[in-house]
Amino acid sequence: MINAQEILKSVYGYDTFRDGQEEIIDSVISGNRTLGIMPTGGGKSLTYQIPAILSSGLTMVVSPLISLMKNQVDELVAAGVSATMINSSLDFEAVKERIYDIRQGIYKIFFVAPERLEDTSFYDFIQTLDLRLVVIDEVHVLSQWGHDFRPSYLTAVDLIENLSNTPNVMALTATATEKVQHDLEHILAIDKTVTTGFARANLAIKIEKGLSDADKKKYIVSYVKNHANDVGIIYAGTRKKVDELSEMLNQSGITAGRYHAGMSDSAREAAQNGFLYDDFQVIVATNAFGMGINKTNVRYVLHLTMPGSIEAYYQEIGRAGRDGLPSESVLLYSARDIQLQRFFIDNSENQEATYRHNELKKLQEMTAFAATQMCLQRYIIQYFGEDMADCGVCTNCTDERALYDVTVDAQKVLSNIVRMSQQRDDAYSRTQVVNVLRGKLAENMLWTGFDKLSTYGLMRDWSLKKLSSFVDYLVADGYLDVAGEYNGLSVSQKGIQVLRGKLTVTMREIKVKETPEKSRASK
Ligand code: ADP
Repeated sequence: MINAQEILKSVYGYDTFRDGQEEIIDSVISGNRTLGIMPTGGGKSLTYQIPAILSSGLTMVVSPLISLMKNQVDELVAAGVSATMINSSLDFEAVKERIYDIRQGIYKIFFVAPERLEDTSFYDFIQTLDLRLVVIDEVHVLSQWGHDFRPSYLTAVDLIENLSNTPNVMALTATATEKVQHDLEHILAIDKTVTTGFARANLAIKIEKGLSDADKKKYIVSYVKNHANDVGIIYAGTRKKVDELSEMLNQSGITAGRYHAGMSDSAREAAQNGFLYDDFQVIVATNAFGMGINKTNVRYVLHLTMPGSIEAYYQEIGRAGRDGLPSESVLLYSARDIQLQRFFIDNSENQEATYRHNELKKLQEMTAFAATQMCLQRYIIQYFGEDMADCGVCTNCTDERALYDVTVDAQKVLSNIVRMSQQRDDAYSRTQVVNVLRGKLAENMLWTGFDKLSTYGLMRDWSLKKLSSFVDYLVADGYLDVAGEYNGLSVSQKGIQVLRGKLTVTMREIKVKETPEKSRASK
Protein backbone atom coordinates (compact mmCIF):
# COMPACT_ATOMS: atom_id res chain seq x y z
CA MET A 1 0.00 0.00 0.00
CA ILE A 2 1.34 3.42 -0.85
CA ASN A 3 1.93 5.73 2.06
CA ALA A 4 2.14 9.43 2.73
CA GLN A 5 5.91 9.50 2.28
CA GLU A 6 5.66 8.01 -1.20
CA ILE A 7 3.01 10.51 -2.23
CA LEU A 8 5.21 13.32 -0.96
CA LYS A 9 7.91 12.16 -3.34
CA SER A 10 5.91 11.00 -6.33
CA VAL A 11 3.30 13.78 -6.46
CA TYR A 12 5.15 16.75 -5.00
CA GLY A 13 8.78 15.80 -5.50
CA TYR A 14 9.82 16.46 -1.87
CA ASP A 15 11.98 14.12 0.15
CA THR A 16 11.08 15.04 3.69
CA PHE A 17 8.08 16.35 5.53
CA ARG A 18 8.23 19.68 7.21
CA ASP A 19 7.63 20.13 10.89
CA GLY A 20 4.08 19.06 11.76
CA GLN A 21 3.02 17.79 8.35
CA GLU A 22 3.40 14.10 9.00
CA GLU A 23 1.74 14.35 12.38
CA ILE A 24 -1.31 16.06 10.94
CA ILE A 25 -1.53 13.60 8.05
CA ASP A 26 -1.21 10.56 10.34
CA SER A 27 -3.81 11.94 12.68
CA VAL A 28 -6.31 12.55 9.87
CA ILE A 29 -5.69 9.16 8.28
CA SER A 30 -6.27 7.48 11.64
CA GLY A 31 -9.70 9.08 11.71
CA ASN A 32 -9.09 11.81 14.29
CA ARG A 33 -10.82 15.11 13.97
CA THR A 34 -7.69 17.19 13.60
CA LEU A 35 -6.81 20.85 13.95
CA GLY A 36 -3.56 21.92 12.29
CA ILE A 37 -1.98 25.24 13.20
CA MET A 38 1.06 26.09 11.12
CA PRO A 39 2.51 29.44 10.08
CA THR A 40 1.85 30.82 6.62
CA GLY A 41 4.17 29.02 4.26
CA GLY A 42 4.52 26.12 6.68
CA GLY A 43 3.02 23.72 4.18
CA LYS A 44 -0.58 23.25 5.28
CA SER A 45 -1.88 22.35 1.83
CA LEU A 46 -0.10 19.00 1.72
CA THR A 47 -1.60 18.04 5.06
CA TYR A 48 -5.08 17.69 3.60
CA GLN A 49 -4.09 16.86 0.05
CA ILE A 50 -2.14 13.75 0.97
CA PRO A 51 -4.94 12.22 3.09
CA ALA A 52 -7.31 13.12 0.24
CA ILE A 53 -5.13 11.34 -2.30
CA LEU A 54 -4.73 8.32 -0.05
CA SER A 55 -8.43 8.07 0.70
CA SER A 56 -10.63 5.84 -1.39
CA GLY A 57 -13.44 8.37 -1.12
CA LEU A 58 -13.90 12.06 -1.75
CA THR A 59 -12.64 15.14 0.06
CA MET A 60 -14.51 18.42 0.27
CA VAL A 61 -12.55 21.56 1.13
CA VAL A 62 -14.53 24.46 2.55
CA SER A 63 -12.64 27.59 1.76
CA PRO A 64 -13.57 31.23 2.34
CA LEU A 65 -12.18 32.85 -0.78
CA ILE A 66 -12.61 32.17 -4.45
CA SER A 67 -9.04 33.24 -5.25
CA LEU A 68 -7.81 30.80 -2.68
CA MET A 69 -9.74 27.95 -4.22
CA LYS A 70 -8.58 28.73 -7.68
CA ASN A 71 -4.92 28.64 -6.68
CA GLN A 72 -5.31 25.39 -4.85
CA VAL A 73 -7.19 23.71 -7.68
CA ASP A 74 -4.62 24.90 -10.23
CA GLU A 75 -1.81 23.55 -8.11
CA LEU A 76 -3.46 20.21 -7.58
CA VAL A 77 -4.22 19.81 -11.24
CA ALA A 78 -0.62 20.73 -12.07
CA ALA A 79 0.52 18.03 -9.66
CA GLY A 80 -1.73 15.55 -11.42
CA VAL A 81 -4.48 15.34 -8.81
CA SER A 82 -8.03 15.69 -10.13
CA ALA A 83 -9.66 18.61 -8.35
CA THR A 84 -12.37 21.15 -9.03
CA MET A 85 -14.32 23.91 -7.34
CA ILE A 86 -17.89 25.05 -7.16
CA ASN A 87 -18.48 28.68 -6.40
CA SER A 88 -20.29 31.82 -7.38
CA SER A 89 -17.84 32.58 -10.19
CA LEU A 90 -19.45 29.77 -12.22
CA ASP A 91 -22.72 29.93 -14.12
CA PHE A 92 -25.53 27.49 -13.56
CA GLU A 93 -24.56 25.19 -16.43
CA ALA A 94 -20.96 24.94 -15.29
CA VAL A 95 -22.06 24.10 -11.76
CA LYS A 96 -24.35 21.39 -13.08
CA GLU A 97 -21.58 19.93 -15.16
CA ARG A 98 -19.14 19.84 -12.26
CA ILE A 99 -21.70 18.28 -9.96
CA TYR A 100 -22.28 15.64 -12.61
CA ASP A 101 -18.54 14.99 -12.86
CA ILE A 102 -18.17 14.78 -9.09
CA ARG A 103 -20.96 12.21 -9.05
CA GLN A 104 -19.16 10.26 -11.76
CA GLY A 105 -16.13 10.04 -9.52
CA ILE A 106 -13.91 12.13 -11.79
CA TYR A 107 -12.59 14.24 -8.93
CA LYS A 108 -10.75 13.33 -5.77
CA ILE A 109 -11.09 16.77 -4.16
CA PHE A 110 -13.62 19.54 -4.59
CA PHE A 111 -13.65 23.02 -3.11
CA VAL A 112 -16.74 24.93 -2.03
CA ALA A 113 -17.54 28.18 -0.29
CA PRO A 114 -19.30 27.74 3.06
CA GLU A 115 -22.50 29.36 1.80
CA ARG A 116 -22.86 26.63 -0.81
CA LEU A 117 -23.74 24.15 1.92
CA GLU A 118 -26.87 26.17 2.68
CA ASP A 119 -28.18 25.30 -0.78
CA THR A 120 -30.49 22.38 0.01
CA SER A 121 -30.11 20.55 -3.26
CA PHE A 122 -26.33 20.78 -3.03
CA TYR A 123 -26.44 19.64 0.58
CA ASP A 124 -28.58 16.66 -0.37
CA PHE A 125 -26.24 15.92 -3.23
CA ILE A 126 -23.08 15.73 -1.13
CA GLN A 127 -24.81 13.32 1.22
CA THR A 128 -25.12 10.87 -1.63
CA LEU A 129 -21.35 10.85 -2.14
CA ASP A 130 -18.69 8.68 -0.60
CA LEU A 131 -17.45 11.74 1.26
CA ARG A 132 -14.68 10.79 3.67
CA LEU A 133 -13.08 14.06 4.67
CA VAL A 134 -14.19 17.66 5.07
CA VAL A 135 -11.42 20.25 5.33
CA ILE A 136 -12.16 23.67 6.79
CA ASP A 137 -9.47 26.06 5.65
CA GLU A 138 -8.66 29.40 7.31
CA VAL A 139 -10.65 28.12 10.24
CA HIS A 140 -9.74 30.97 12.61
CA VAL A 141 -12.67 32.91 11.16
CA LEU A 142 -14.93 30.57 13.15
CA SER A 143 -13.79 31.93 16.47
CA GLN A 144 -14.99 35.20 17.84
CA TRP A 145 -11.54 35.57 19.38
CA GLY A 146 -9.84 35.25 16.01
CA HIS A 147 -9.40 38.13 13.61
CA ASP A 148 -11.82 38.30 10.73
CA PHE A 149 -14.60 36.54 12.67
CA ARG A 150 -17.38 35.37 10.37
CA PRO A 151 -20.33 34.13 12.38
CA SER A 152 -22.00 32.86 9.20
CA TYR A 153 -19.43 30.05 9.12
CA LEU A 154 -20.96 28.51 12.18
CA THR A 155 -23.95 27.56 10.04
CA ALA A 156 -21.62 25.68 7.72
CA VAL A 157 -20.13 23.83 10.69
CA ASP A 158 -23.60 22.78 11.84
CA LEU A 159 -24.39 21.49 8.39
CA ILE A 160 -21.11 19.57 8.23
CA GLU A 161 -21.83 18.03 11.63
CA ASN A 162 -25.19 16.78 10.39
CA LEU A 163 -24.03 15.12 7.19
CA SER A 164 -25.51 11.63 7.06
CA ASN A 165 -22.34 10.21 5.47
CA THR A 166 -20.34 11.37 8.55
CA PRO A 167 -17.00 12.34 7.02
CA ASN A 168 -13.99 13.04 9.20
CA VAL A 169 -13.24 16.72 9.74
CA MET A 170 -9.95 18.56 9.72
CA ALA A 171 -9.35 22.27 10.10
CA LEU A 172 -6.37 24.45 9.26
CA THR A 173 -5.18 27.92 10.10
CA ALA A 174 -2.02 29.97 10.31
CA THR A 175 -3.07 32.08 13.23
CA ALA A 176 -4.55 30.97 16.47
CA THR A 177 -3.89 32.29 19.92
CA GLU A 178 -4.47 29.80 22.74
CA LYS A 179 -7.92 31.24 23.20
CA VAL A 180 -8.82 30.77 19.54
CA GLN A 181 -7.36 27.28 19.59
CA HIS A 182 -9.52 26.24 22.56
CA ASP A 183 -12.54 27.81 20.98
CA LEU A 184 -12.01 25.91 17.73
CA GLU A 185 -11.33 22.65 19.54
CA HIS A 186 -14.65 23.08 21.28
CA ILE A 187 -16.71 24.17 18.26
CA LEU A 188 -15.35 21.38 16.05
CA ALA A 189 -15.01 18.67 18.71
CA ILE A 190 -11.37 18.23 17.79
CA ASP A 191 -9.58 15.04 18.89
CA LYS A 192 -6.06 16.14 18.14
CA THR A 193 -4.40 19.50 17.60
CA VAL A 194 -1.01 19.79 15.96
CA THR A 195 0.74 23.13 16.37
CA THR A 196 4.15 23.83 14.98
CA GLY A 197 6.21 26.75 16.11
CA PHE A 198 5.09 30.12 14.90
CA ALA A 199 8.61 31.48 14.74
CA ARG A 200 9.93 32.48 11.33
CA ALA A 201 13.68 32.49 11.63
CA ASN A 202 14.16 33.98 8.15
CA LEU A 203 11.95 36.99 8.80
CA ALA A 204 13.45 40.21 10.14
CA ILE A 205 10.68 42.33 11.66
CA LYS A 206 11.31 46.08 11.61
CA ILE A 207 9.34 49.04 12.88
CA GLU A 208 9.99 52.62 11.75
CA LYS A 209 8.41 55.24 13.95
CA GLY A 210 7.62 58.88 13.83
CA LEU A 211 7.43 59.40 10.06
CA SER A 212 4.83 61.79 8.67
CA ASP A 213 2.43 60.49 6.03
CA ALA A 214 4.49 62.10 3.29
CA ASP A 215 7.72 60.68 4.69
CA LYS A 216 6.23 57.21 4.92
CA LYS A 217 5.45 57.30 1.22
CA LYS A 218 8.94 58.54 0.39
CA TYR A 219 10.38 55.80 2.55
CA ILE A 220 8.41 53.20 0.59
CA VAL A 221 9.42 54.55 -2.81
CA SER A 222 13.09 54.50 -1.90
CA TYR A 223 12.78 51.10 -0.23
CA VAL A 224 11.27 49.60 -3.37
CA LYS A 225 13.93 51.25 -5.52
CA ASN A 226 16.66 49.85 -3.31
CA HIS A 227 15.17 46.38 -3.70
CA ALA A 228 14.86 46.51 -7.45
CA ASN A 229 15.39 42.78 -7.91
CA ASP A 230 12.94 41.73 -5.25
CA VAL A 231 9.19 41.28 -5.18
CA GLY A 232 7.20 42.74 -2.30
CA ILE A 233 3.77 43.49 -0.92
CA ILE A 234 2.78 46.85 0.53
CA TYR A 235 -0.27 46.97 2.76
CA ALA A 236 -2.18 50.22 3.13
CA GLY A 237 -5.15 50.80 5.41
CA THR A 238 -7.68 52.19 2.95
CA ARG A 239 -8.55 51.89 -0.73
CA LYS A 240 -7.71 55.53 -1.22
CA LYS A 241 -4.24 55.05 0.21
CA VAL A 242 -3.74 52.02 -2.03
CA ASP A 243 -4.66 54.06 -5.11
CA GLU A 244 -2.48 56.99 -4.10
CA LEU A 245 0.57 54.95 -3.23
CA SER A 246 0.45 52.70 -6.28
CA GLU A 247 0.15 55.78 -8.48
CA MET A 248 3.09 57.40 -6.73
CA LEU A 249 5.19 54.27 -7.23
CA ASN A 250 4.27 54.03 -10.89
CA GLN A 251 5.18 57.68 -11.37
CA SER A 252 8.57 56.91 -9.88
CA GLY A 253 9.16 54.34 -12.59
CA ILE A 254 8.24 51.29 -10.52
CA THR A 255 5.76 48.78 -11.92
CA ALA A 256 3.30 48.54 -9.09
CA GLY A 257 0.00 46.68 -9.10
CA ARG A 258 -2.87 47.44 -6.80
CA TYR A 259 -5.58 45.39 -5.18
CA HIS A 260 -8.58 46.22 -3.06
CA ALA A 261 -12.19 45.23 -2.65
CA GLY A 262 -13.41 48.34 -4.48
CA MET A 263 -12.04 47.06 -7.80
CA SER A 264 -13.99 44.84 -10.20
CA ASP A 265 -13.55 41.07 -9.99
CA SER A 266 -11.67 40.99 -13.26
CA ALA A 267 -9.36 43.85 -12.25
CA ARG A 268 -8.58 42.08 -9.02
CA GLU A 269 -7.92 38.81 -10.77
CA ALA A 270 -5.62 40.57 -13.23
CA ALA A 271 -3.77 42.21 -10.35
CA GLN A 272 -3.38 38.92 -8.56
CA ASN A 273 -2.09 37.17 -11.65
CA GLY A 274 0.23 40.06 -12.45
CA PHE A 275 1.69 39.64 -9.02
CA LEU A 276 1.94 35.85 -9.21
CA TYR A 277 3.70 35.96 -12.56
CA ASP A 278 6.08 38.78 -11.62
CA ASP A 279 4.63 41.40 -13.97
CA PHE A 280 4.79 43.77 -11.03
CA GLN A 281 7.66 44.53 -8.79
CA VAL A 282 5.30 45.29 -5.95
CA ILE A 283 1.62 45.13 -5.25
CA VAL A 284 -0.05 47.75 -3.08
CA ALA A 285 -3.11 46.33 -1.38
CA THR A 286 -5.58 46.48 1.45
CA ASN A 287 -5.88 43.49 3.75
CA ALA A 288 -8.31 42.02 1.19
CA PHE A 289 -5.22 40.74 -0.60
CA GLY A 290 -3.14 37.74 0.16
CA MET A 291 -5.13 35.02 1.82
CA GLY A 292 -4.08 31.80 0.13
CA ILE A 293 -1.79 33.46 -2.39
CA ASN A 294 0.98 30.99 -2.80
CA LYS A 295 3.92 33.06 -3.93
CA THR A 296 7.02 31.86 -2.22
CA ASN A 297 9.60 34.44 -3.33
CA VAL A 298 8.11 37.56 -1.71
CA ARG A 299 11.14 39.23 -0.13
CA TYR A 300 9.47 41.99 1.84
CA VAL A 301 6.15 43.17 3.23
CA LEU A 302 5.77 46.85 4.09
CA HIS A 303 2.92 48.32 6.10
CA LEU A 304 2.03 51.90 5.30
CA THR A 305 -0.60 51.64 8.04
CA MET A 306 -0.71 49.51 11.12
CA PRO A 307 -3.17 46.58 11.00
CA GLY A 308 -5.81 46.21 13.69
CA SER A 309 -4.47 43.08 15.38
CA ILE A 310 -1.29 41.11 15.92
CA GLU A 311 -2.91 38.10 14.26
CA ALA A 312 -3.67 40.02 11.07
CA TYR A 313 -0.25 41.64 11.13
CA TYR A 314 1.63 38.37 11.59
CA GLN A 315 -0.36 36.70 8.88
CA GLU A 316 0.38 39.55 6.49
CA ILE A 317 4.10 39.72 7.15
CA GLY A 318 4.21 35.91 7.03
CA ARG A 319 3.66 36.20 3.29
CA ALA A 320 7.29 37.21 2.97
CA GLY A 321 9.90 34.49 2.71
CA ARG A 322 7.75 31.42 2.33
CA ASP A 323 10.71 29.87 0.51
CA GLY A 324 12.75 30.12 3.71
CA LEU A 325 15.19 32.73 2.38
CA PRO A 326 15.98 35.89 4.38
CA SER A 327 13.12 38.37 4.16
CA GLU A 328 12.03 41.53 5.83
CA SER A 329 8.93 43.32 7.01
CA VAL A 330 8.72 46.99 7.92
CA LEU A 331 5.85 48.52 9.84
CA LEU A 332 5.71 52.27 9.35
CA TYR A 333 4.09 53.11 12.62
CA SER A 334 2.32 56.29 13.49
CA ALA A 335 -0.09 56.86 16.34
CA ARG A 336 -2.70 58.13 13.86
CA ASP A 337 -3.10 54.58 12.58
CA ILE A 338 -4.70 53.66 15.87
CA GLN A 339 -7.44 56.18 15.14
CA LEU A 340 -7.97 54.71 11.68
CA GLN A 341 -8.40 51.21 13.10
CA ARG A 342 -10.65 52.61 15.79
CA PHE A 343 -12.74 54.17 13.05
CA PHE A 344 -13.06 50.76 11.35
CA ILE A 345 -14.27 49.21 14.59
CA ASP A 346 -16.72 52.03 15.26
CA ASN A 347 -18.10 51.73 11.74
CA SER A 348 -18.10 47.96 11.50
CA GLU A 349 -21.40 46.30 10.63
CA ASN A 350 -21.00 44.17 13.69
CA GLN A 351 -21.69 46.32 16.76
CA GLU A 352 -22.31 43.46 19.14
CA ALA A 353 -20.75 44.28 22.53
CA THR A 354 -18.42 41.29 22.81
CA TYR A 355 -17.24 41.71 19.24
CA ARG A 356 -16.45 45.37 19.79
CA HIS A 357 -14.75 44.59 23.04
CA ASN A 358 -12.55 41.95 21.40
CA GLU A 359 -11.66 44.14 18.46
CA LEU A 360 -10.69 47.01 20.75
CA LYS A 361 -8.61 44.68 22.83
CA LYS A 362 -6.79 43.37 19.79
CA LEU A 363 -6.11 46.89 18.64
CA GLN A 364 -4.74 47.69 22.06
CA GLU A 365 -2.47 44.63 21.86
CA MET A 366 -1.22 45.67 18.43
CA THR A 367 -0.46 49.15 19.76
CA ALA A 368 1.44 47.64 22.65
CA PHE A 369 3.45 45.53 20.22
CA ALA A 370 4.56 48.67 18.42
CA ALA A 371 5.80 50.09 21.71
CA THR A 372 7.70 47.14 23.12
CA GLN A 373 11.46 47.16 23.32
CA MET A 374 11.76 43.41 23.52
CA CYS A 375 12.53 41.16 20.54
CA LEU A 376 9.61 41.80 18.17
CA GLN A 377 9.25 38.27 16.92
CA ARG A 378 9.49 36.88 20.42
CA TYR A 379 6.79 39.31 21.54
CA ILE A 380 4.47 37.92 18.86
CA ILE A 381 5.34 34.32 19.63
CA GLN A 382 4.59 34.94 23.31
CA TYR A 383 1.33 36.54 22.28
CA PHE A 384 0.45 33.21 20.64
CA GLY A 385 1.26 31.45 23.90
CA GLU A 386 4.70 30.11 23.00
CA ASP A 387 8.25 31.27 23.52
CA MET A 388 11.50 31.46 21.57
CA ALA A 389 14.99 32.90 21.94
CA ASP A 390 15.49 36.48 20.75
CA CYS A 391 15.57 36.53 16.95
CA GLY A 392 18.66 38.72 16.74
CA VAL A 393 17.55 40.47 13.55
CA CYS A 394 14.54 42.65 14.39
CA THR A 395 14.60 46.38 15.09
CA ASN A 396 14.84 45.85 18.82
CA CYS A 397 17.42 43.07 18.76
CA THR A 398 19.69 45.19 16.57
CA ASP A 399 19.15 48.40 18.54
CA GLU A 400 22.53 49.28 19.99
CA ARG A 401 21.50 52.31 22.01
CA ALA A 402 22.28 52.10 25.70
CA LEU A 403 19.67 51.01 28.20
CA TYR A 404 18.66 53.55 30.83
CA ASP A 405 17.25 52.89 34.24
CA VAL A 406 13.81 54.53 34.11
CA THR A 407 12.46 53.03 37.31
CA VAL A 408 11.80 56.40 38.95
CA ASP A 409 9.90 57.71 35.92
CA ALA A 410 7.92 54.49 35.77
CA GLN A 411 7.06 54.85 39.47
CA LYS A 412 5.77 58.37 38.82
CA VAL A 413 3.43 57.14 36.11
CA LEU A 414 2.27 54.12 38.09
CA SER A 415 1.64 55.95 41.32
CA ASN A 416 -0.28 58.63 39.46
CA ILE A 417 -2.52 55.96 37.98
CA VAL A 418 -3.09 54.47 41.41
CA ARG A 419 -4.00 57.91 42.78
CA MET A 420 -6.36 58.76 39.94
CA SER A 421 -8.17 55.45 40.38
CA GLN A 422 -8.42 55.89 44.13
CA GLN A 423 -9.76 59.40 43.77
CA ARG A 424 -12.58 58.50 41.38
CA ASP A 425 -12.83 54.73 41.67
CA ASP A 426 -12.41 54.30 37.93
CA ALA A 427 -9.72 53.55 35.35
CA TYR A 428 -8.56 56.36 33.07
CA SER A 429 -7.17 56.35 29.55
CA ARG A 430 -3.64 57.17 28.54
CA THR A 431 -4.68 60.64 27.42
CA GLN A 432 -6.10 61.49 30.83
CA VAL A 433 -3.13 60.00 32.67
CA VAL A 434 -0.66 61.90 30.53
CA ASN A 435 -2.59 65.17 30.94
CA VAL A 436 -2.54 64.85 34.72
CA LEU A 437 1.17 64.01 34.82
CA ARG A 438 1.94 66.98 32.61
CA GLY A 439 -0.27 69.26 34.67
CA LYS A 440 -2.58 69.90 31.76
CA LEU A 441 -5.97 68.76 32.92
CA ALA A 442 -8.66 69.77 30.45
CA GLU A 443 -11.30 72.25 31.59
CA ASN A 444 -14.06 69.67 31.33
CA MET A 445 -12.17 67.28 33.60
CA LEU A 446 -11.70 69.70 36.48
CA TRP A 447 -14.62 68.11 38.31
CA THR A 448 -12.43 65.06 38.90
CA GLY A 449 -10.19 67.02 41.24
CA PHE A 450 -7.14 65.43 39.62
CA ASP A 451 -5.41 68.80 39.71
CA LYS A 452 -5.22 68.42 43.48
CA LEU A 453 -3.30 65.14 43.32
CA SER A 454 0.30 65.17 44.52
CA THR A 455 1.30 63.67 41.19
CA TYR A 456 -0.31 66.51 39.20
CA GLY A 457 2.31 68.05 36.93
CA LEU A 458 4.98 65.69 38.23
CA MET A 459 6.25 65.10 34.69
CA ARG A 460 5.57 68.55 33.25
CA ASP A 461 8.94 68.61 31.52
CA TRP A 462 8.00 65.64 29.32
CA SER A 463 6.48 66.33 25.90
CA LEU A 464 3.05 64.91 25.11
CA LYS A 465 4.42 62.50 22.53
CA LYS A 466 7.28 61.29 24.64
CA LEU A 467 5.20 60.68 27.73
CA SER A 468 2.48 58.97 25.69
CA SER A 469 5.11 56.68 24.17
CA PHE A 470 6.48 55.96 27.62
CA VAL A 471 3.03 54.94 28.85
CA ASP A 472 2.64 52.72 25.77
CA TYR A 473 5.95 51.14 26.61
CA LEU A 474 4.80 50.43 30.17
CA VAL A 475 1.69 48.79 28.73
CA ALA A 476 3.65 46.83 26.14
CA ASP A 477 6.02 45.38 28.66
CA GLY A 478 3.30 44.50 31.11
CA TYR A 479 3.60 47.10 33.89
CA LEU A 480 0.14 48.38 33.12
CA ASP A 481 -3.06 46.60 32.17
CA VAL A 482 -5.60 48.05 29.79
CA ALA A 483 -9.30 47.26 29.87
CA GLY A 484 -12.70 48.47 28.78
CA GLU A 485 -14.18 50.55 26.02
CA TYR A 486 -12.05 53.54 26.93
CA ASN A 487 -8.82 51.61 27.43
CA GLY A 488 -8.69 52.36 31.13
CA LEU A 489 -5.23 51.87 32.65
CA SER A 490 -4.48 50.02 35.85
CA VAL A 491 -1.26 48.87 37.49
CA SER A 492 -0.48 45.17 36.89
CA GLN A 493 1.16 42.75 39.33
CA LYS A 494 4.46 43.46 37.60
CA GLY A 495 3.83 47.20 38.00
CA ILE A 496 3.17 46.76 41.72
CA GLN A 497 6.64 45.22 42.04
CA VAL A 498 8.03 48.39 40.48
CA LEU A 499 6.10 50.60 42.89
CA ARG A 500 7.46 48.57 45.77
CA GLY A 501 10.99 49.02 44.51
CA LYS A 502 11.38 45.30 43.88
CA LEU A 503 11.74 45.53 40.12
CA THR A 504 13.71 47.98 38.00
CA VAL A 505 12.56 49.22 34.61
CA THR A 506 15.07 49.80 31.85
CA MET A 507 14.54 51.05 28.36
CA ARG A 508 16.23 52.69 25.42
CA GLU A 509 15.70 56.33 24.72
CA ILE A 510 12.29 56.96 23.20
CA LYS A 511 12.54 58.26 19.66
CA VAL A 512 9.73 60.62 18.84
CA LYS A 513 9.54 63.32 16.25
CA GLU A 514 8.15 66.39 17.96
CA THR A 515 5.62 68.57 16.20
CA PRO A 516 4.59 71.90 17.73
CA GLU A 517 1.86 71.28 20.26
CA LYS A 518 -1.50 72.85 19.72
CA SER A 519 -2.54 75.10 22.55
CA ARG A 520 -5.29 73.45 24.51
CA ALA A 521 -7.49 74.14 27.46
CA SER A 522 -5.26 73.66 30.43
CA LYS A 523 -4.96 74.75 33.93
P1 ADP B 1 0.60 27.28 3.79
O1 ADP B 1 -0.69 26.85 3.17
O2 ADP B 1 0.85 26.66 5.12
O3 ADP B 1 0.78 28.78 3.84
P2 ADP B 1 1.71 25.96 1.54
O4 ADP B 1 1.01 24.69 1.72
O5 ADP B 1 1.23 26.86 0.47
O6 ADP B 1 1.77 26.76 2.90
O7 ADP B 1 3.25 25.63 1.34
C1 ADP B 1 4.21 26.66 1.14
C2 ADP B 1 5.28 26.20 0.18
O8 ADP B 1 6.07 25.16 0.79
C3 ADP B 1 4.73 25.63 -1.10
O9 ADP B 1 5.49 26.10 -2.17
C4 ADP B 1 4.88 24.13 -0.92
O10 ADP B 1 5.00 23.47 -2.15
C5 ADP B 1 6.16 24.05 -0.09
N1 ADP B 1 6.23 22.80 0.69
C6 ADP B 1 5.23 22.25 1.41
N2 ADP B 1 5.64 21.13 2.02
C7 ADP B 1 6.94 20.94 1.69
C8 ADP B 1 7.94 19.97 2.00
N3 ADP B 1 7.67 18.92 2.79
N4 ADP B 1 9.17 20.13 1.49
C9 ADP B 1 9.45 21.19 0.71
N5 ADP B 1 8.56 22.15 0.37
C10 ADP B 1 7.31 22.05 0.84
